[in-house]
Amino acid sequence: MKIARSLLGLACGLALALQSTGTSWAKAPPANPCAQIAAQLQQVAREAEISAPPSVGCEVLAEAEFATYHHQLAQALGLDLNLHSDSKILTALFIVPESYPYAECVVQASASGALALYDPLAKKLVIKENSNISELVILHELVHALQDEMLELRSYAHDPKLSFDQIMVRTALLEGHAIVISEALSSDKAGSSSEAPSAVVDSRCTPPKALATLFDYPYDFGTIVARRSRSGGGNAAIKKLLMRPPNSLLDLITGASNPVATLPRKHDSSACRQDTLGIALVQTIAKLVLNREDSLRIARRWVSDDVRVCLAKSGDEDSVWRVTWESEWQRESDAASFFQLLRRLIEREYQTSLNPDARYLVFSNSEGLQFTLRQTGLRVQFETQSSEII
Ligand SMILES: [Zn+2]
Repeated sequence: MKIARSLLGLACGLALALQSTGTSWAKAPPANPCAQIAAQLQQVAREAEISAPPSVGCEVLAEAEFATYHHQLAQALGLDLNLHSDSKILTALFIVPESYPYAECVVQASASGALALYDPLAKKLVIKENSNISELVILHELVHALQDEMLELRSYAHDPKLSFDQIMVRTALLEGHAIVISEALSSDKAGSSSEAPSAVVDSRCTPPKALATLFDYPYDFGTIVARRSRSGGGNAAIKKLLMRPPNSLLDLITGASNPVATLPRKHDSSACRQDTLGIALVQTIAKLVLNREDSLRIARRWVSDDVRVCLAKSGDEDSVWRVTWESEWQRESDAASFFQLLRRLIEREYQTSLNPDARYLVFSNSEGLQFTLRQTGLRVQFETQSSEII
């Protein structure tokens, strides 16, 4: 899903802005935030024990130009290709309401929240003018420049062949690493937050809570993993993880290689796209009705999943669509718990009540959306589609 590729790849300023902005320069911030880049690059290279690239470009752009740059980079990296189908997945899985204009908003929201970005194509740092940027953000972005030298970020984090789950793993490692290294160097780790991050330009684009949780996931989780890895095995341990990323977020959490179920792949239509969502999606959905601990407990029982989204081939792709999400669980009781969770979400979202004893439920809401929810042994299948069927 491109939410990972667009937001996670480009908007690390967003999460950082929320965590720590403002006055983290040891002295007054320099008039030109690019002035000390070469020295700061050597600083992060020493801290991370990674060879620095010979040079990294740096440019300061006014807010409007920064937004244009961000947008063009997103296009160049192919991040804007599947926005409509991603929007349907997120709607079907309760992450965004049907009314949220995801396709219009996602790149814009990411650009307006970001203070700076690292461009892996031009090999340069781009900073938003007058953003009162902290040294921490610059150091963070320079860690991405080191990672790019080591891993070639364009293919590492943006390869269209990677699943959403795999992108989440890589993004969590990249961001966690950048956060841990930059915090180790910054004079103000806590970050006194005197400046709010710039508001999203279009208020319709403010991300709903569950979407914000999903965007934050790799930063929060990645920081935990990177701290744990670096304190246990130093820079070598985290570099090893970066160079050989586990195949799923579950593997990254457990530090093991979990058996991967083989859900049937159905390449039946060019109008459909398939992906594996993994435990970040499961946990985000579970958090809509459960607390953090219980949602993690459910997510850890995930074995595999397969989401398929189909849009009308021509005509109104926004109104004719189908999302089918099949998941496999460790035990039948885990599948039953997840089935009940989805039942509760349908009930809550559409103000209805469904038979809690049934293992096969069919429901239509007043807008004509049709839902099918079924548990068979270890598997749960959930399908949502528009009233006009593909
Ligand atoms: Zn970042």
